[in-house]
Amino acid sequence: MYDKNNIFAKILRKEIPCDKVYEDEVSLFFNDVNPQAKIHVLGIPKFPCSTFSEFTKNANNEIITSFFKNVQLVINKLNVEKSGYRLITNSGEDGGQEVAHFHIHILAGEKIGIIK
Ligand code: 5GP
Repeated sequence: MYDKNNIFAKILRKEIPCDKVYEDEVSLFFNDVNPQAKIHVLGIPKFPCSTFSEFTKNANNEIITSFFKNVQLVINKLNVEKSGYRLITNSGEDGGQEVAHFHIHILAGEKIGIIK
């Protein structure tokens, strides 16, 4: 079940500040507070969902498409398509997910090694 008090839900409600990269009606992208690469942006849908699977099962196709189109939009905005990037989403306990609101990590700006 979705926990409305997770930290990203608080960021979406503007109860906690973030260093915003892009926002529209379906999504928010912001810099990770503890970056694992020169560029480390987190992308979250505004749709309440704990994991990637909950998002793809419960959100409608328009929201899902818009969110993933926005991931590409932010890749363009960061100007890293040519140099390269890594997308990661951690899910659940075995996936090492810490914050229970589905998010995509965009890592770029340098060669990305093994990240645990
Ligand atoms: P996960 O392990 O859940 O995939 O990743 C959670 C990410 O959220 C981590 O990279 C962590 O640094 C980041 N994070 C946790 N709390 C905050 C916060 O309050 N603000 C920002 N900008 N990032 C956060």
